[in-house]
Amino acid sequence: MVSKLDHIGIAVSNLEESVKFYEDILGLKLQGIEIVDEQKVKVAFLPLGDTEIELLEATSPDSPIEKFIEKKGQGIQHIAVRVEDIDKALAEAKEKGIRLIDEKPRYGAGGARIAFLHPKSTNGVLIELCERKG
Ligand code: ZN
Repeated sequence: MVSKLDHIGIAVSNLEESVKFYEDILGLKLQGIEIVDEQKVKVAFLPLGDTEIELLEATSPDSPIEKFIEKKGQGIQHIAVRVEDIDKALAEAKEKGIRLIDEKPRYGAGGARIAFLHPKSTNGVLIELCERKG
């Protein structure tokens, strides 16, 4: 069902400051910043080998990222796994009794199609399915 770890999503309070850490201390290179209105987040991508670090800052108090930080503080919020066919992957997960946060794929940063599986069904990890073309 999955082919690779697409990225790791990290909730941060200040995107620019966090990017600095990854660039200056770890030597990663910022690939781009995008605002995803649908999820009320500002997203920065830093490629790391075959995967990416995705930094997420809330753009609104009712953003899921703001709620996450209020509850748990900054840190790893989700992991994303690459799937070839997200519609098929979602249907299969549902059939196997996995609780879905998204019944249908939605728009993700970088033009991906994404959907989340509920942590209650995944041993406590918020898992994003991520389909990318090209
Ligand atoms: Zn993500």
